[in-house]
Amino acid sequence: MAVHTGSCQCGNVKVSVPGDARIVTMCFCKDCQRRTGSAGSVHTYYPAAVVTIDGAVKLYSRRGNSGCFVNCHFSPDCGSTMFWTAEASPGQAGVPVGLFADPTFPPPTNATFVPHKHPWFAIPEGVTQNEGHSARFLTGVAAALTRRQTE
Ligand SMILES: [Zn+2]
Ligand SMILES: [Zn+2]
Repeated sequence: MAVHTGSCQCGNVKVSVPGDARIVTMCFCKDCQRRTGSAGSVHTYYPAAVVTIDGAVKLYSRRGNSGCFVNCHFSPDCGSTMFWTAEASPGQAGVPVGLFADPTFPPPTNATFVPHKHPWFAIPEGVTQNEGHSARFLTGVAAALTRRQTE
């Protein structure tokens, strides 16, 4: 099985994921624009248990658009986001595709928060477009909010 290995811009933190990603998302929400310092984020999701991080990371947690928490882990020296976990997607980790700096990495399958996109940014044909979070994520948000009420 192919293993994808990436690193932050200073090289102190490495990330490895096994096999090709099944989900690659483009997100144009304002938080992703600010996190990346770019027009949006391109990232993939893997089960958190199979994402290997080599090197020390720092944590920044924020409340996302959905009201659920997003926990971003970044290289403390250079600031590259290495992965994040979201309260609404338990057991999953988001990993920025840019860490792999590999043009052969699988292309995006869906785009979220499309209305926040810069108008010049063209979404590739065949990519599912969502106005906000994907339906799958929203199901996770509802479950997370229910968990909070019962805890
Ligand atoms: Zn770094
Ligand atoms: Zn986003």
